[in-house]
Amino acid sequence: MTRDPRYDVLFEPVAIGPVTARNRFYQVPHCTGMGYDYPRTLNRLREINAEGGWGVVCTEFCSIHPSALSNRQCTLWDEDDVAMLADMVERVHRHGALAGVQLWYGGYSNYNTLTRELPLGPHSVPVWHGPGQTQAMTRADIRRLRRWHREAALRAKRAGFDIVYVYAAHGYLPAQFLSPILNQRTDEYGGSFENRARLIRELLEETRDAVGDACAVAFRFAVDNLDAALGIAHDGEGRDLVELVADEPDLWDVNIANFQSDALPSRFAGEAAQEPYVRFVKRVTTRPVVGVGRFTSPDTMIGQINRGVLDFIGAARPSIADPFLPRKIEEGRPEDIRECIGCNICIWSNHKGFPLRCTQNPTRGEEWRRGWHPEEIATRHADESVLVVGAGPAGLEAALSLGRRGYRVVLAEALTELGGRVTRESALPGLSEWARVRDHRVHALRQMPNVEIYRDSRLDAEQVFGFGFAHVCIATGSRWRRDGTGRSSAAPFSGWRSEGVVGPEDIFRGAGLEGPCVIFDDDHFYMACVIAEKAREAGHEVTLVTTANEAASEGHGSLEQHPSQARLLELGIELLCGHRVSAFEPGAVTLACVYTGRERTRPCKTLVPVTSREPEEALYLALAADESRLREAGIVSLERIGDCAAPGLIAAAVFAGHRYARELGGNAAVPARDRIVISGASREDL
Ligand code: ADP
Ligand code: SF4
Repeated sequence: MTRDPRYDVLFEPVAIGPVTARNRFYQVPHCTGMGYDYPRTLNRLREINAEGGWGVVCTEFCSIHPSALSNRQCTLWDEDDVAMLADMVERVHRHGALAGVQLWYGGYSNYNTLTRELPLGPHSVPVWHGPGQTQAMTRADIRRLRRWHREAALRAKRAGFDIVYVYAAHGYLPAQFLSPILNQRTDEYGGSFENRARLIRELLEETRDAVGDACAVAFRFAVDNLDAALGIAHDGEGRDLVELVADEPDLWDVNIANFQSDALPSRFAGEAAQEPYVRFVKRVTTRPVVGVGRFTSPDTMIGQINRGVLDFIGAARPSIADPFLPRKIEEGRPEDIRECIGCNICIWSNHKGFPLRCTQNPTRGEEWRRGWHPEEIATRHADESVLVVGAGPAGLEAALSLGRRGYRVVLAEALTELGGRVTRESALPGLSEWARVRDHRVHALRQMPNVEIYRDSRLDAEQVFGFGFAHVCIATGSRWRRDGTGRSSAAPFSGWRSEGVVGPEDIFRGAGLEGPCVIFDDDHFYMACVIAEKAREAGHEVTLVTTANEAASEGHGSLEQHPSQARLLELGIELLCGHRVSAFEPGAVTLACVYTGRERTRPCKTLVPVTSREPEEALYLALAADESRLREAGIVSLERIGDCAAPGLIAAAVFAGHRYARELGGNAAVPARDRIVISGASREDL
C-alpha cells in the first residue's frame, strides 16, 4: 500500500540546527520506570521506536548530577553512563532516527534519598516528594550547576546524541528560577523577569557553546503554569520568555504546566488539547517547534502542520501504544494504528516504580526482557486449532495474536457485542476511548481468514468437550460483586440483598437509579468516580463514600486523582472519606468510620458498592476438573487468562491474552504457570 498524499507533509525532512530529522514524527522525552536500573530494557524500547519510523527518539529526563535524582531515570554523571547511552544512540541511529537527550536538574522536586545529596533550589522550600527542604543556592552553587550542565552536555555529545536539551518545564529547576513565586532571590537571579530568566539564557548559551557545533540544542519549555499564582502564562511571561530567547535554541519543545496537567488522562483532555496555549510559539521564533497532544489521527497531525501550529508531531503516549505509528501512516494503513486510550497506566506504572506497561500495547517494556516485538510474532508451532472463549480484552488479544501466528482460531462470545468490559465501561462518562481496545482488535480480526468469531454463543463445558479443539483458552472475565466485600471488609454488609442495592454490572445494563444515591468506593481507582458522575448527570443527589482518605486514591499514579476529586466537587457530589458501608435497608445506609468504628445513618435510595470483582471461572473449573474427558476430547492444553484468572487492569488482561498466544507451543521466555498440558497427548511439541 502507498501512503495517502495528504500525509506527505508528515514525511518531509526538517532541519534542527546542524542535524536533520527524516520526518516530522518526534518521540519526546518520556519516563519509562527503567532508567539506570534497566538499561538494556530501556535501550531496546527506544530502538523499537526508531524502527517504527519516528524521526527523533529521545531519552527520558536524564540527571546531570547526584544532587538531583529521581527514581528509575537516566543519569549522565560519568563515562559508564556515556557507555550506557551510547548503546541507545547506536540502536536509534541504526534505524535512521536522531537521538535526543533531556538534561535534567530537579531542584525542589526530589529529596535524593538514594544519593543523600542535599537538593538545591532557588531558595529553601519543602521538596515535592519527601521530607525536608532544599538548600538555597549561592552564586557559587549556580556556577557549579552551570558547569555540571555543560559537562553533562559534553558527555551527551561523546555518547553520540544529535539533540541536547535544556529543560525548563514540568516545574524543574530552570522553571523554578523563572517563576516569580518559586524564586524569591534578591540577587541578579531573582526579582525582575530578566533576572529570573538569566539562568535559562546562560544554560542555552553554554550548551550551544559546548556542543552546538555537532548537536542541536533543544529547549523544553512549559509556556503556561495554569496557575496564576506561579506567574507564567502563555499570554504573559511565558510569551515574554519565548520572545526573549526566540532563536537561541535550535528547537522549541513546548508544553504546559506540571506533568499532571501536561499528560492528563482522556477523561479530562482530548487530542490536541494544548493547541490554545502553544500556538503562539511559531509566530515568535523561526526555529522548528514540537508540541504534544496525544496525537493519534493523521488528519489532526496534518492540521497542526498545515495551520502552522507545530513543525513536529510530538508524542509520548501515542508512541508507547504504537511504536510503529509513523510506519503505518507511511505504508498507507493508518487504520492499523493502535491508538492510545489515554488511561495513563504507562504513567501509573512508572510512578509505582516498575517498567512501563501499556493497556493497548502488551509488548511495551517487554521488548528486551521477553524479546517481544510489537509487529512480529513467531508462526504457529503446529497446524492446530484454538478455541478462545470470551471476547473481552484478554480473549480479543489472544485471538488476534494467535491469528497472526497462523493458528485456526474460533472466538466465542456469549453476548452480541464484542469487547467485554471495555464495551461496558466505554459507555460511562469520559471513558469512550476505552472502546479503542476493542475496535483496534476487531478491525484486525476481520482481516483474518483463519479466525472465526461467533457472537451470542455462551458456551458450557459439554459444548467445549464436544468441539474437538486442540487448545482451549478461557477468557470469560469477571463481574463486580454487589455484597460490598473487598479490601476493607471480607464479610458482606448487612442488607446487601435488599432492593436498592445496585451493582456496577446493573449500571452497565442501564439500571435506573433513585436518589439520594450513595456510591461506595473500596476499589479506589476510576470506576466509583465515573459511576458517581453518571448518577449526578441523571440529576440525583449523590454522595461518594470511600474507605480511602480521598477520591480515586490509586489515581495518583495515573494523574487522575486530583482532576477526579475536582470534578466530583464541581458537579456537587458530596465526598465522605474514611468510611465503609456497614448496613443497608431500603431508604437508609449505615456508614462506619474506618478509624473509630463510629456509625452514622443517612438517607439512601440507591447504594452502589464498587468494591471488588468475582472471576467468571465456572467454565474453566468444570473443564479442568475432568482431565480424562479433556484427553478423550483431544484437548492438548487448557488455560484461563485475564480477569477470569484474576480480575485486574485492562492492561493485565491484554497482556495475558498476548502472552498466551506468544507462548502456545512452548515459546515462553518465562513459562506460564497456569497452563494445564494434558500428558500423553499426541502433540509432543508443546
Ligand atoms: P477480560 O478483561 O479478562 O477480557 P471481560 O470481562 O472484559 O474479561 O470479558 C469476558 C467476556 O467473556 C465477556 O464479553 C463475556 O460476555 C464473555 N463470556 C463469559 N462467559 C462466557 C461463556 N461461557 N461463553 C462465551 N463467552 C463468555
Ligand atoms: Fe496510552 Fe494507556 Fe498505553 Fe499509556 S497505557 S500509552 S495512556 S493506552
